[in-house]
Amino acid sequence: MKTIVAKFGGTSLADAAQFKKVRAIIEADPSRRFIVASAPGKRNPEDHKVTDLLYRCRDLAAHGGDPAPVLEEIRARFAGIIEELGVDFDLDAELAAICGHLRERDYMASRGEYLNAKILSAYLGIPFIDAAECVRFVRAGLPDYETTNDLMAFALRGATRVIIPGFYGTDQSGVIRTFTRGGSDVTGSLVARAVSADLYENWTDVPGMLFADPRVVDNPRTVERITYRELRELSYLGASVLHEDAVFPVRKAGIPINIRDTNCPEEHGTMIVPVENERSWETVVTGIAGKPGFCCVSLEKGMMNSEVGFGAKLLTIFAEHGVSFEHCPSGIDTMSVVVQREAFAPQREAILREIEEDLHPDYIAVDDSIALIAVVGHGMVHSKGISARVFRAMANARINVRLIDAGPGEMNIIFGVAEEDCNDALRALNNALG
Ligand code: ASP
Repeated sequence: MKTIVAKFGGTSLADAAQFKKVRAIIEADPSRRFIVASAPGKRNPEDHKVTDLLYRCRDLAAHGGDPAPVLEEIRARFAGIIEELGVDFDLDAELAAICGHLRERDYMASRGEYLNAKILSAYLGIPFIDAAECVRFVRAGLPDYETTNDLMAFALRGATRVIIPGFYGTDQSGVIRTFTRGGSDVTGSLVARAVSADLYENWTDVPGMLFADPRVVDNPRTVERITYRELRELSYLGASVLHEDAVFPVRKAGIPINIRDTNCPEEHGTMIVPVENERSWETVVTGIAGKPGFCCVSLEKGMMNSEVGFGAKLLTIFAEHGVSFEHCPSGIDTMSVVVQREAFAPQREAILREIEEDLHPDYIAVDDSIALIAVVGHGMVHSKGISARVFRAMANARINVRLIDAGPGEMNIIFGVAEEDCNDALRALNNALG
């Protein structure tokens, strides 16, 4: 039998109706053995996530406010779920214990997952294992991957089915610590690695990874398959489907991730697969993404190409000011360095002065408002005409391309446009390639 780790996000466990859908999904496949639960999320756009309420409760308690009304809101959320599902669960006893720790930030934040997983366990009759026992943190936000893997493998050995709360664990002193927001994805990934799962299912409220950002582009198609590397390229420019740190443990173990929609379990969602499988499907361009907030520093100097070490000196100046470079397109006598504006702005004057003094360029200019666009797909390396289609789409949309960076690996074409053209560029690309 296969082993599947199924993680259910906040909207998938937001109320009793969603719990019922989750039950049907779990019971439909006995391979779904390790279940990771988030805290109740929003039931509608105006609603509050329980994790946000818990943070608010803690802040009120820590700063002399009255947490009682927020605690009552939290109690009512869980009481509603318990009552409608008809489960036997002593919520008052659990809340009384939590009230002893009102000022502990990570502890409070973790209780949404803790209670939801316990209620799910009672509802499904599947044993609960506390993440406090098997997720180890170096410090808040940073898991100790190897220790967690050992503890988790030990805690889960021989288990037939188990429910584990996401988002938290403990540090070396036994103090509760959490991941950054959305961190139940990471717990699911750690569990999948520890039990050598065949598949990590991440159940959420979207049909999967989309070809382009749906806030910018109308009805982008769902991506059926994407490799970890492609996902990383797209996430870097803002595409988000799961917590960044969730990729590392399963990628290392070669376990695929399947993004699924709890509200449409009949859909197959998106498979995120290791690189080995990358040639087994036909799609040429997997996705597009774009993000504003970059600057491009461009230099020109006669005979630059024969000045050994020019590029190294230029990049060292950025490095010494703690500014990491994103791209570095160059010509014979020109070189440009693309950096994130947020990191560059405070160092701008000092960096430009040092470039003038140390490298004596003939010309130096800074473009402060660049958006980077990425067209990503392993299949591009084998197909002709993709670049032509990309840049024809830009020309037809009357968008000026300010810089281009495409390596010989050809998994992506990255180019820069003015920030105000970013969304139009994405729409034009979706029409041409989506
Ligand atoms: N409940 C936590 C949050 O809202 C963690 C999660 O849902 O993944 O960020």
